[in-house]
Amino acid sequence: MASTNGKPKLALYWASSCGGCEIAVLAIHEKLLEVAEAFDVVFWPCAMDFKQAEVEAMADGEIDVCLFNGAIRNDHNAHMAHLLRQKSKVLVAFGSCANEGCMPGLANFTDREHILRFIYQESPSTDNPQGVRPQLRTEVPEGTLELPDFWNTVKTLDQVVPVDYYLPGCPPEAKWVAAAVDAIVTNKLPPPGSVIGMDVAVCDECPRKRDVKKITRFYRPYEIVPDPEICLLEQGLFCAGIATRAGCGALCPSVNMGCRGCYGPVEGVEDIGARLISAIGSIIEAKTPEEIDAVLDTLPDPAGYFYRFSLARSFLRRTRMGQQDGRRVAEPIAEVPRLEPELAD
Ligand code: SF4
Repeated sequence: MASTNGKPKLALYWASSCGGCEIAVLAIHEKLLEVAEAFDVVFWPCAMDFKQAEVEAMADGEIDVCLFNGAIRNDHNAHMAHLLRQKSKVLVAFGSCANEGCMPGLANFTDREHILRFIYQESPSTDNPQGVRPQLRTEVPEGTLELPDFWNTVKTLDQVVPVDYYLPGCPPEAKWVAAAVDAIVTNKLPPPGSVIGMDVAVCDECPRKRDVKKITRFYRPYEIVPDPEICLLEQGLFCAGIATRAGCGALCPSVNMGCRGCYGPVEGVEDIGARLISAIGSIIEAKTPEEIDAVLDTLPDPAGYFYRFSLARSFLRRTRMGQQDGRRVAEPIAEVPRLEPELAD
């Protein structure tokens, strides 16, 4: 249902994320005026005083397009994902957290118990001798205070509700936000399930020269001044450009920093970490297991490098936790399927 002013209705929501995606929307500059001209913004709690109850009162499918950023890591994130799915004709996973889990998804390297114990009891700056933790329900004279339950495993948006389109990036580049707005306004959206953006790798956008040079060690960015024209990976600086979807214009390699993979896996790659392991293996100059280990020992935190943005979406999903010192065991790894898009009427 269009608004009384005849404009299609637009919603923007922020679940478990840093807020950078909201800023990316503002980075489209004067195109924001076109958004305001073309749409009736009916829900954007980061920018204006909208209430959840207003969305709950809408008819199913009443919102034409919802840009949903943020991963799903607690009951309220999930409630809003289901609510906005129900109320929206088109639901867009907007930004890396909604697409792949991104930084919140790194919590899947541990589990809820370890996180809560560290934050509320063991961190050096915590003073909490009685080990008090947040409760789901707390009775106070004024009534009952409620907090959403904090999940053991962070999920992507499409592991919770069906998603129609994907706009990756941490945050999405303004030109792709603008392109998505154009596609929506002109009704030229690609087939449901599509990623809005490019389908080649960052290496294809990167002007640095590659000559399949082998490396004998990795360097941290502060350890060398790289040649400005040669591929960073071939100079021993970790770069995920070979497995990452293009769209940013190879921004990080252009300033001597390896690509970190924020646009997610390139078209056709399901698990970015597996592709990176394969790429790294092909450039290492080592023959024996000991030599291979010696090279890999110079790459600190390989799991963090390979799955910095994509752990929640990867084949791994999360770390399998064991019994430790009599402490709690995390949930076993469960298969979390992507849900098929199913547009609301
Ligand atoms: Fe690819 Fe990175 Fe090398 Fe550029 S620097 S060619 S993005 S691996």
